[in-house]
Amino acid sequence: MAVLVCGGAGYIGSHINKQLHKEGHETVVLDNLVYGHREAVKWGAFEQGDLKNTEDIERVFQKYSIEAVFHFAAFAYVGESVTEPEKYYYNNVANTLNLLKIMKKYDCKKIIFSSTCATYGEPEVIPITEELPQNPINPYGMSKLMVEKILMDYHNAYGIQFAVLRYFNAAGADPEGELGESHQPETHLIPLVLDAAAGKRPDIKVFGTDYDTPDGSCVRDYIHVYDLATAHLLALHHLEKGGESDFFNLGNEKGTSVLEVVEAVRKVTGKEFKATLTDRRPGDPAKLVGSSRKAKRVLLWKPVYEDIEEIVRHAWNWHENAEY
Ligand code: UDP
Repeated sequence: MAVLVCGGAGYIGSHINKQLHKEGHETVVLDNLVYGHREAVKWGAFEQGDLKNTEDIERVFQKYSIEAVFHFAAFAYVGESVTEPEKYYYNNVANTLNLLKIMKKYDCKKIIFSSTCATYGEPEVIPITEELPQNPINPYGMSKLMVEKILMDYHNAYGIQFAVLRYFNAAGADPEGELGESHQPETHLIPLVLDAAAGKRPDIKVFGTDYDTPDGSCVRDYIHVYDLATAHLLALHHLEKGGESDFFNLGNEKGTSVLEVVEAVRKVTGKEFKATLTDRRPGDPAKLVGSSRKAKRVLLWKPVYEDIEEIVRHAWNWHENAEY
């Protein structure tokens, strides 16, 4: 029996593939390598293919006996989703229907789905808990919410068991230095600040300093990718034990501002670099902090790398010697 990791060549999927392997699972990564890196698939089998082609998915289900699916294969550029929603609804929603169709055909009943705090939109209450209203403000968040709803319907009609994991800001890198974050193009704060520290870009732009937050810059909840990976394995165990299909936030429950991230990078790297204060980036809520109490209670999840400096240190170790 094997576990299928769709999008396992990407940042988060590659870390889960590693942990699955460490736990003794046979894994198969299915990735189209549009954004993923072949070098990030260091464990298990690799099959290149695209979820838009049902025959690519079926080929994998014929070749391996798939007991559960982890699904990370999605486009995730919020800004692009606003200008090109069609791309997001086809790739993130329609292609997931293809995956579910083949799962159903091969009687594979377990799926762990990568969702996002972007499904909540502008939160009315902080910290965000799972039962708060979900009103995404961009097509990326909407595409993930649509899949959440589809999973509920497939659960009721076909007995698919699911765990939906809503991430806050995934950050950091493999503590053993074998994997890290590498997006092309890069839009995420921590890798961009590290680029500035490494002298690969002239400065880091701080988007907005007039938010209603303690230092005026945006506050986010940075969660170590290693801890995210651990939660995914616990979610699989939960389903294997017959636990209920459910939705879980995964965050640090702690807000860190953009300026605090910049300071953490200065401290960890010992490098001086310029932070340029600029206008707000459209669509950025002032503050996003999640409550992960439910994941801790139900999945018995215990994050271990909660300190922003430790998160940055792992990211910097990777950044300095990045293989891809
Ligand atoms: N940010 C910034 N400068 C950058 C990139 C991001 O100030 O060059 C800010 C952004 O406005 C947000 C935070 O950093 O408040 C985290 O942004 P990121 O794109 O990493 O993740 P998001 O919260 O959008 O998912």
